[in-house]
Amino acid sequence: DLVNIRTALLSVSDKQGIVEFATALAARGIKLLSTGGTHKALAAAGLEVTDVSSVTGFPEIMDGRVKTLHPNVHGGLLAIRDDEDHQAAMSQHGIESIDLAVINLYPFEKVRAAGGDYPTTVENIDIGGPAMIRAAAKNHAYVTVLTDPADYDEVTQALEAGNGAIHYTLRQQLAARAYARTAAYDAAISNWFAEALAIETPRHRTLGGTLRQEMRYGENPHQSAAFYVTGDKRPGVANAVQHQGKQLSYNNINDTDAAFELVAEFSPSVSPACAIIKHANPCGVARAETLTEAYRRALACDSQSAFGGIVALNQMLDGETASEIVKLFTEVIIAPDADEEAKAIIAAKKNLRLLTTGGLPDPRARGFNYRTVAGGFLVQGRDTAMIDEIEMKVVTERAPTETEIEDLKMAFAIAKHVKSNAIVYVKDGQTAGIGAGQMSRIDSARIAAIKAEEAARAADWPEPKTKGSAVASEAFFPFADGLLSAVAAGATAVIQPGGSIRDQEVIDAANENGVAMIFTGTRTFRH
Ligand code: 5GP
Repeated sequence: DLVNIRTALLSVSDKQGIVEFATALAARGIKLLSTGGTHKALAAAGLEVTDVSSVTGFPEIMDGRVKTLHPNVHGGLLAIRDDEDHQAAMSQHGIESIDLAVINLYPFEKVRAAGGDYPTTVENIDIGGPAMIRAAAKNHAYVTVLTDPADYDEVTQALEAGNGAIHYTLRQQLAARAYARTAAYDAAISNWFAEALAIETPRHRTLGGTLRQEMRYGENPHQSAAFYVTGDKRPGVANAVQHQGKQLSYNNINDTDAAFELVAEFSPSVSPACAIIKHANPCGVARAETLTEAYRRALACDSQSAFGGIVALNQMLDGETASEIVKLFTEVIIAPDADEEAKAIIAAKKNLRLLTTGGLPDPRARGFNYRTVAGGFLVQGRDTAMIDEIEMKVVTERAPTETEIEDLKMAFAIAKHVKSNAIVYVKDGQTAGIGAGQMSRIDSARIAAIKAEEAARAADWPEPKTKGSAVASEAFFPFADGLLSAVAAGATAVIQPGGSIRDQEVIDAANENGVAMIFTGTRTFRH
């Protein structure tokens, strides 16, 4: 299971650690081959190294597009060492075996992230590198392949332990890493194309991401977890700057994403807005004249649940709002930006994470949601339903007032971000009660009303804010009972998709109670 290494080929774009690693190889008497830039770096460090051109008998041509694509390289990587025919071919064509390959690829992902222009990005698609990585990894029975500077130490130590040989188990593991790397690389290329061409059909892109962070655990301590980024530049948790606090956990990332995507429904040009999230559901959302007021109003909806929550803001965090937020234990704050005063106030709370994103994500932008199922995964386009782009059809005798319409629109936008069954009451730009994730709509309606009563008690309001509120249901009311429950809580206006066979019963119940109701024809399930 041990294979002695005699020849190594080194061809790396990221030259980090390469001199030290090559030095360790040379010290074991391993012959070094390498391509132009890598050769230069190694020779400059005083290492004896052979240019790969002397192996191929070809100069590097076409600005490096063709350097290692040659049978002398690929034969040396792919030959089965104990196969007579392969050995015969090697001696017939003068091919020497290559036992170890150290390759990292043209920095396509970096160039893409930096917003490189089209030709520059295309030029950074590595061709020979992935070919060699795949060849070496296929032949892992004999060949050791390294695709990441993070692997150098491990291999140096293994060479030490194996007295110049590498064990099969490690070669296998390195091969697995190699294919993970080339797969992620090609996924990034495919996704860049799909983005550049603005197409999202499955034939044009694939799922794949670059490993950003390995976590200690997932949703629970006994689950493993990692965070992958796709290269999509959408402002949000993947592309945010973290100013302070410990690394985000799996649940933090999930909840922070839910919070920021929700608050992004509210344009800062209309008003400041704040969303507080717990377990991926909002426990309070509000708009107001000032950001501080928006936070206070969001908090008032359910100050109990907000403990240990995630706060998302639709505009720059200011000092006044920051000092209000730090009064309560909060896990994460995410905002497009934060001023110096706010940063100083947050800095006093060491564990509180502050993330800034440089902007809000466009809720209309296309994109994907994934979820796993046993044996596969489901992919769908993001839910980009926007109330301003939907026909709001009044189905009752009474039409909603201007104020009711504003609250209905807000309730619709929030309901899209609440786990189904979702019932959201809004009054004067503030959630009055949210019912989430119940198996029946009527239960969600009841829970939302109970939450509203609790909020009123906690805040010493004369009555729950559901009195005179607007209510959204993300899917149709299958029976009149859900609507009647909303009426009992004091709602005067309703927004829902409609489409139930009992719509007429629901409309009649609304009319009997003087409720104004709008059908959107658009369902926004979120399971
Ligand atoms: P160097 O800096 O040594 O000149 O180039 C190293 C880079 O070239 C590595 O990222 C490697 O993957 C890449 N590379 C090696 N052979 C070829 C080839 O034949 N074609 C292309 N396009 N890239 C190659």
